Amino acid sequence: MKKTKLRKVSKQRAKENREYSKVLSSWRQHRIAKDGYLQCQFVGLPYSLDEWYDTDGRCIGRAMTAPHHKKGRHGKLLYDEKFFMALCAFHHSWVEDNKREARRRGLILYK
Ligand SMILES: [Zn+2]
Repeated sequence: MKKTKLRKVSKQRAKENREYSKVLSSWRQHRIAKDGYLQCQFVGLPYSLDEWYDTDGRCIGRAMTAPHHKKGRHGKLLYDEKFFMALCAFHHSWVEDNKREARRRGLILYK
């Protein structure tokens, strides 16, 4: 079989995907060890539609299995747990839809 550039790229991509899922599963384990389950890390308003939050005002929604990347997903940042944040679907969209406010609160750290 002739090797093409496309094949090479997708092999690289496959390797990145494997690496990423390894990082994610260890990140999830850390989060679960800390909170008992994969809890959303969003604190304060707006509360999710269910208005579930603990006494510290932290959302108690179940987070999505992939984190929000506070510093973006560029290059090695994709794997950097320091900048991962567990967010439920509601707060994930909130951050996406309210970038300016999210940046003000330190939830978005890239330019
Ligand atoms: Zn949440």
